[in-house]
Amino acid sequence: MTDADGQVGAATHCPYCALQCAMTVRAVDPVGTPEVTGREFPTNRGGLCKKGWTSAELLRSSQRIVEPMIREGEGFRPASWDEALDLIADRVRAIRAESGADAVGVFGGGGLTNEKAYQLGKFARLALGTSRIDYNGRFCMSSAAAAGNRAFGVDRGLPFPVDHLDEAATIMLLGSNVAETMPPFIGHLAGARAAGGLIVVDPRRSATAKLTAEGGGIHLQPAPGTDLVLLLGLTHLVIESGLADRDYLEHRTSGFERLRRSVSRWWPERVQQHTGVPVAQLRQVAARLASGRGSYILTGRGVEQHVDGTDTASAAINLALVLGLVGTAHSGYGTLTGQGNGQGGREHGQKSDQLPGYRKIVDPDAREHVARVWGVPPEIIPGPGVPAVELLASMGQPDGLRALLVHGSNVVVSAPDAARVRAGLETLDLLVVCDFFLSETAAFADVVLPVTQWAEEEGTMTSLEGRVLRRRKAVEPPAGVRSELWIMHELAERLAAPGSYSTDAAEVFDELARASAGGPADYSGLSHELLDTGVAAFWPYPAGGPGTPRMFLESFAHPDGRARLVPVQAHPRTPPAQRDGTMTLITGRLLGQYQSGTQTRRVPELMASHPHAEAQLHPAAAAGLGLADGDQVELSTPRGTVRCRVAVSADIRYDTVFLPFHFADGESANLLTEAATDPISGMPEFKTTTVEVRAVRDP
Ligand code: SF4
Repeated sequence: MTDADGQVGAATHCPYCALQCAMTVRAVDPVGTPEVTGREFPTNRGGLCKKGWTSAELLRSSQRIVEPMIREGEGFRPASWDEALDLIADRVRAIRAESGADAVGVFGGGGLTNEKAYQLGKFARLALGTSRIDYNGRFCMSSAAAAGNRAFGVDRGLPFPVDHLDEAATIMLLGSNVAETMPPFIGHLAGARAAGGLIVVDPRRSATAKLTAEGGGIHLQPAPGTDLVLLLGLTHLVIESGLADRDYLEHRTSGFERLRRSVSRWWPERVQQHTGVPVAQLRQVAARLASGRGSYILTGRGVEQHVDGTDTASAAINLALVLGLVGTAHSGYGTLTGQGNGQGGREHGQKSDQLPGYRKIVDPDAREHVARVWGVPPEIIPGPGVPAVELLASMGQPDGLRALLVHGSNVVVSAPDAARVRAGLETLDLLVVCDFFLSETAAFADVVLPVTQWAEEEGTMTSLEGRVLRRRKAVEPPAGVRSELWIMHELAERLAAPGSYSTDAAEVFDELARASAGGPADYSGLSHELLDTGVAAFWPYPAGGPGTPRMFLESFAHPDGRARLVPVQAHPRTPPAQRDGTMTLITGRLLGQYQSGTQTRRVPELMASHPHAEAQLHPAAAAGLGLADGDQVELSTPRGTVRCRVAVSADIRYDTVFLPFHFADGESANLLTEAATDPISGMPEFKTTTVEVRAVRDP
């Protein structure tokens, strides 16, 4: 195999984040670690981060599961595929007969290929007959997606190509630490940095915030949980300072008067009082965003993972609309998707309220269309299920889940209130986990099914800019593992399910494309064959093409073609540190780790730089607790306790403690977080948790 650059190997993309950096993977020999080379591509320009460079180590890891395993006592015994699949089908049939189809749930993942995500939604609804399917993207993108849908009528993370950012004079990043999460992305900030126009909003002086130091950028450091107030205040300031784009608002949006009234209570001095951001900085940022030389507002999980996450993302969109940035040639708003297929994962039907093509499951026309493609009557497609937190909370409850099939997710580490999730898993009559490693969730399973990884399979992913990409097979998988497509096919046969379940990714993609035709995320003009020509496949890509690199240039997706300004309100919380001596916990990411760490904690080179969770504390806060750098600290909430080392740093606010969420067991940040959710999107509150902090004298 030779890729388009003449490199020998399979041209594919990184298995981790949504930047989907292009790489070539070459099998060196049948057992050695394959070779990875960065490949020229608009998002990464040949660059990779340390996760990408070491990604091939996952393929030959000695910790791979290479045969099905069935629980026996406290451990597992190996089993044949037939035995494992027969056992699952028998128990599913029995549970359905006793408790109904909704007693069986499915939990998907934002790292699954488009084909698997599509097939999983179909498998759940037709083969299992359950409405109870959701996925870990609920913890990741759901609030920004909900806000995008209500403002624009459709949600595509970045509705413009990433490399359009190169020309921007101003980029405001809210709650996103790209310098650690997707380092090659920094290259796209170079123009704004040079122009003094990089604005970073983060309670921490993160690696990304430090980039503002060069070139005269701005770092806003609001108190945790006050992002919404900050955005309302900036919108007020833009309007009151005469910086709003009145012509744009009149011709391209609706709802301006209501919005104007809704932000009028957030004058700068009041915003300063709540957020801690000085009035002068607020004025500086408003003027900079309105400077008219190409401005972008980009949000990340830091502002989205809140109980008011949808409203916060809406406030960011409102600000962008008032400035006239969205749907123009050189400016925009976007949300930076995190998981590898976080974008495609939310489009093809593994979400509780959606059918393929990003269609609403309650829409009769959508049900009719999808049922036709599936070859079934529409009435057998179940209605909407429940979002992820609710789905997991129903384990062990009367009329709740009795069985759960988990694909590509490690909920014991990634879901909020992890202790409650563990307790729920223990109540199940059947837990099936498909994974390539024995994750913390798989350790609770009744059956573990070993599956193929990224470089062992064909498929597609959709990157953070809505570009559909080919994932290609570079190496043979271990003999005992199977693709999820094959597993779903086999289980569907055993369950005598309606519909067909191809094991061929190209065939599944063709069906997905037909199912998406006419929907918001229309893939109907695409196929593996076309993608193999290297076409720039930005959706919507209707039959005959072309795709849509930059969306909304003519109109938005609402029937009147206008974007909707959605007035939202903030309910400021009293900073806990001022209330009772506790601190605010914020959680986040590290350069060398990814999500729940299922993969990256198994790569020795990555573990060498980040072997454990460390709680970052301000020097004054640490001194007040009698803690020095490297000491043991205990963080507690009513839900759990974490013990770890302290990293003393002036990069964090005095009232705030930062803990990365990639680690497990007693270092798992989600032992502390609460399963409170945003009422609109179901997004949990990951970013502001009140914690007690104390020194551990006798670890
Ligand atoms: Fe992989 Fe993301 Fe790193 Fe690129 S930035 S190499 S896609 S983890």
